[in-house]
Amino acid sequence: METLSSGDTLAPIFHEIETILGKDTYDMWLRPTVCKFENQVLSIQLPNLLWQKTIQSRYEHIIKDAFFKHTGMEITVSYVIKEINTQPSIIQTPSVSVFDHEPEIKANPFNSHLNDSYKFDNFIESPSNRLAYKAAQAAVNQPGNRINNPLLIYSTPGLGKTHLLHAIGNQILQQNPAARVLYMSGEEFVSEYIESLQNKSSDSFRKKYRSLDCLLMDDIQFVAGKTASEGEFFYTFNALFENGRQIVLSSDRTPQELGLEERLSSRLLSGIITEIKKPNLETRIAILRQKRDAIHFDIGDDVIAFIAEGIQTNVRELEGSLFQLVFYCSTHGVVPTISIAKVVLADILTQEEQRMAVNVNTIKKIVGKHFKIDITDFTSKRKTQSVAWPRQIAMFLCTELTDMSLPEIGREFNRDHSTVVHARDLVKEKIKTDPFFSAEINQIISDIKSVDKK
Ligand code: ADP
Ligand code: MG
Repeated sequence: METLSSGDTLAPIFHEIETILGKDTYDMWLRPTVCKFENQVLSIQLPNLLWQKTIQSRYEHIIKDAFFKHTGMEITVSYVIKEINTQPSIIQTPSVSVFDHEPEIKANPFNSHLNDSYKFDNFIESPSNRLAYKAAQAAVNQPGNRINNPLLIYSTPGLGKTHLLHAIGNQILQQNPAARVLYMSGEEFVSEYIESLQNKSSDSFRKKYRSLDCLLMDDIQFVAGKTASEGEFFYTFNALFENGRQIVLSSDRTPQELGLEERLSSRLLSGIITEIKKPNLETRIAILRQKRDAIHFDIGDDVIAFIAEGIQTNVRELEGSLFQLVFYCSTHGVVPTISIAKVVLADILTQEEQRMAVNVNTIKKIVGKHFKIDITDFTSKRKTQSVAWPRQIAMFLCTELTDMSLPEIGREFNRDHSTVVHARDLVKEKIKTDPFFSAEINQIISDIKSVDKK
């Protein structure tokens, strides 16, 4: 939702509307619009009649009720059809509001900073996130229990860490509305801490954190390595931990890679550490179907499968692609098809392909260099051990380090998927039984990763 001027005093109203509609519906239909509120009239600028009819028939009463609840005003909604920026990125634009009127809004006595649209219910459980999901539920059902505390969830971006943190908070509050739950990012913690030093208000800063029942801190990589903030975090963390309060953290890297000081990292290691991996095809399809149902937009399973095949590394991009396509189809009044999806999502699909391609090629390059064999040997028919073994290692690494399916990996090596399975099992077994070989593989993996980062 785009806005024009005075502050965001109506933000809580739109936040409530978002909560009722659900994040997906809100992102789809309301966020891209431009709203103005004047003399009890909310005017909504949107791109076409179809859009207007959707909001009018499905959501207008919800908007009116929310305004009435917060302001006591019976408002009128008017619609203006006008070309709006149809760049899909507008969907990501945070809402701002323009109002000539400052309604009174009751403050929540304790602001948890939770987004109510992230729930366990709308999180698709799958093999790639099962442990994190179960650990998150355990944190709700037995908060502060030493076995589940602290809980650290890590993954590459866009795989659901933030979603799970909010889901934990929302669920705790649902079971115990008086619980003092706080969600915040590591970045916010650091900047609040610095502010408290400047304002000489460290005492109230400390009090605020140490009185919590549950602290949900997202993206703690921002705290790591900043000596003073990390020290302060350690004390907060300890105070909560000693009092049996639940702590849930997320990070975009492993605890080892966080480079935390010893006392903090050993505390972290005493709890549960769980990784969310990239979702498999079935999960990606399930996620897209759930989003489709949430936004009530008719989009065929063939198109859903096409998107799920194309976007493999990041759920945020996966759902972003769906919204982008729906956005395009609703602004142009066309039914989504695979051919339209190919055009609308061309850029994002190419980026994804490049991301995937880099991996296989990098693996071949590094493994080839390590064993002094030529890149072409990976696809050749040669079966001598000096070529076959590195080839099997490269196939194994593809199963570990990329999201490619077994047949896809097979194709890259000019082999079928059963050869990949055989190679994978062989190398795995050798890693288990031979520590020198295991160290060698770790070295190769770290070489591959450092090339990929460049
Ligand atoms: P992260 O914090 O790991 O970067 P987010 O929690 O922000 O990722 O997730 C990105 C988007 O993908 C969010 O809109 C979230 O709701 C959605 N998402 C991620 N994983 C799932 C899942 N398993 N089921 C449903 N939605 C998911
Ligand atoms: Mg996040």
